[in-house]
Amino acid sequence: MVLSRQREPLAGVDVPEPEPGAGQVLVRVAACGVCRTDLHVVDGDLSEPKLPLIPGHQIVGTVVEAGEGAERHAPGDRVGIPWLGWTCGECRYCRSDRENLCPRARFTGYDVDGGYAELAAADERFCFPVPGGYPDLQAAPLLCAGLIGYRSLRMCGDAERLGLYGFGASAHIVCQVARHQGREVLAITKPGDADTQRFALELGAGWAGDPAGGSEVAEAGDGRPPVELDAAIVFAPAGELVPAALRALSPGGVVVCAGIHMSDIPSFPYEILWGERAVRSVANLTRRDGEDFLALAPEVPVRTEVSEYPLERANEALDDLRAGSFRGAAVLRIDQPARD
Ligand SMILES: [Zn+2]
Ligand SMILES: [Zn+2]
Repeated sequence: MVLSRQREPLAGVDVPEPEPGAGQVLVRVAACGVCRTDLHVVDGDLSEPKLPLIPGHQIVGTVVEAGEGAERHAPGDRVGIPWLGWTCGECRYCRSDRENLCPRARFTGYDVDGGYAELAAADERFCFPVPGGYPDLQAAPLLCAGLIGYRSLRMCGDAERLGLYGFGASAHIVCQVARHQGREVLAITKPGDADTQRFALELGAGWAGDPAGGSEVAEAGDGRPPVELDAAIVFAPAGELVPAALRALSPGGVVVCAGIHMSDIPSFPYEILWGERAVRSVANLTRRDGEDFLALAPEVPVRTEVSEYPLERANEALDDLRAGSFRGAAVLRIDQPARD
């Protein structure tokens, strides 16, 4: 499924099969998660994708061929391909364990073709083994919703009371990890979104409601409004949630913005930042994040709730994500054509 121009739907197109270059593996894709970043790419919020582009950066598949010098993953191995597709290895960020900030980094489904396709080629050093026990479709959301969510959670330090603003693919995973770590979770959804609030409570949140403290399902939780958070992660791409989260934060707390794009943050009085509160973003991932999270996920164990779409219905999956009309994560199922 190819994006030829931003702000236009993807089109199902036959393209030449990718060839694995030196150090790359060719992967037969089984499943590819649909991320909000894909939506930002299609909608033009992110301005410099390669075009035409095959989106998708939560890829689960099987290695079918190793390029010259590639030896980490053998044909038949199941691997995951994440957003971080390549880094230079030489810059000051790469040399200080911050490859997520490499200015020359290339991203899957943005700078290089991704996984809305039957085949994908990737630098093998950036592919992860996928933990056993997760079917392909359920594993796919671990690769970005899970990884970036986990990095965001790490930025919250040892916060005991955690607010999650926007309860989609990433939050539904982070909620489970945070509960596993013994934290308290409060889920903040759109006003009136009782369905999502119930979903959050099912996954261990102690309270679910809206930014104003109202809750459709308060009686199902403990009825306490979301006050005095130790940390908040803002997943929804809505800038007005940043001051809202700051207002709910105790002194010394942090608001972590987890998305790659957000509408402008409205100005706010200094007093809500005062008290050593902080606002920060999380950008991309390091391979270390991936290794750590994929080892932790089966221990929790994280269970992903997946809405499945066949590859050719990728546009519908993106529309449903835009509308927030499913629980958990959207994942494309890639049926392989018959081969000789
Ligand atoms: Zn670099
Ligand atoms: Zn993503």
